[in-house]
Amino acid sequence: MTQQPGDHLPRTRPAWELLKDKILVHTRTGIRYGKSPVLAAGEHDGIILCGAGALTTADALHRQAVEPWTVLVDPNCYDQLATADAPFHLPGAHHHGQGSLFEDDEPDPLGFDQTVQLRRGATAGLTPTRYIPGGDRRAVRAAVRAVLDLDAEQTILTLPLDHRWLRSSDDLDFLVTTLADVPHIKGIALGAAANPLATKGTVAGLRRLITGLDRVALLRTDLAGLDAYAHGALFASIGMQTSMRHVSPPGTGGPPRPTDRNVTTVVLHPQLMDYFTCDVLKDRYGNLPAPLCHCGVCCGRSLLRFDHDRTDQEEANRHNIATWLPWADDLQRTTAGAERVEVWRRLCRDAVMARQELRHELGDPSAFETPRWLKTWAGEPD
Ligand SMILES: [Zn+2]
Repeated sequence: MTQQPGDHLPRTRPAWELLKDKILVHTRTGIRYGKSPVLAAGEHDGIILCGAGALTTADALHRQAVEPWTVLVDPNCYDQLATADAPFHLPGAHHHGQGSLFEDDEPDPLGFDQTVQLRRGATAGLTPTRYIPGGDRRAVRAAVRAVLDLDAEQTILTLPLDHRWLRSSDDLDFLVTTLADVPHIKGIALGAAANPLATKGTVAGLRRLITGLDRVALLRTDLAGLDAYAHGALFASIGMQTSMRHVSPPGTGGPPRPTDRNVTTVVLHPQLMDYFTCDVLKDRYGNLPAPLCHCGVCCGRSLLRFDHDRTDQEEANRHNIATWLPWADDLQRTTAGAERVEVWRRLCRDAVMARQELRHELGDPSAFETPRWLKTWAGEPD
């Protein structure tokens, strides 16, 4: 039999065993500037690669690695809406079932798409699901029907859900019921123009989804991935770049792609547990002494040192990972269930307290207001 790329990879265990308890870094593959985000990200539990070259990079990583990497490839086809007729982005397929252009003895396009990912070294395949508008139940049913034909041990059903799904109790009931009998991992990614959890009730809605389903993961997110993991998600992926921390709805264009002149550096504040653009952080601290960071990247340097340029952005991205990694470690080391939830709540309560102290120091009751999601993570009702 002809050796295919990826055939050397061990496939003896199902994806839910290989991915269990991982907090992955979700990153673009681009290596135009500075240290490769792939190398920076790959020092941890594993990565999800996104963008042009993701498959090639996954393949190369596996061929170079001494130990097998945990690597997934984000199909990133969220610029089109999923419909009942075409829930997936499959070039060459054009109507229901999306298999019509292929002969009977050839693999169906969805199965072929998954095989390509596996052969290129992915730990499991992520279905190329298009963006699912709020409440579009027919699109969800169509995606579910199609994925049931694929090997549950090697396929993850990607569910790029618009944030409106989280606001309707009926819609959440529908998702929990419809996905209950799907043995595959359900990889949820939330879509919104800004933070998908900014609206009242969405944190609680997401938790309901996570706790209501087995084998569920939260992908392409921020610290919400740790909240999901604490509450029973199989695994999560946290974005290295801002655009990798949520999914942009079709037509919004997403955040502008960085160029040399258009760089936004975003910094995760270790005590406040939130991401700030570097200029906002400097501005808000005003005349207060600069906060120092003792992560492995900063080594005691000021958190206010970052500017909006390519080098600083790259360093801030690595600082951000080095900041949430110990929180992920704490959760991973704690027994799943109530104990893990309590560890997470305590971290978030400390952040709420740190904000109160900082407001007091600044003498400004409106500065560093605690965001809604952080209050809910800390145990307050949403
Ligand atoms: Zn740092």
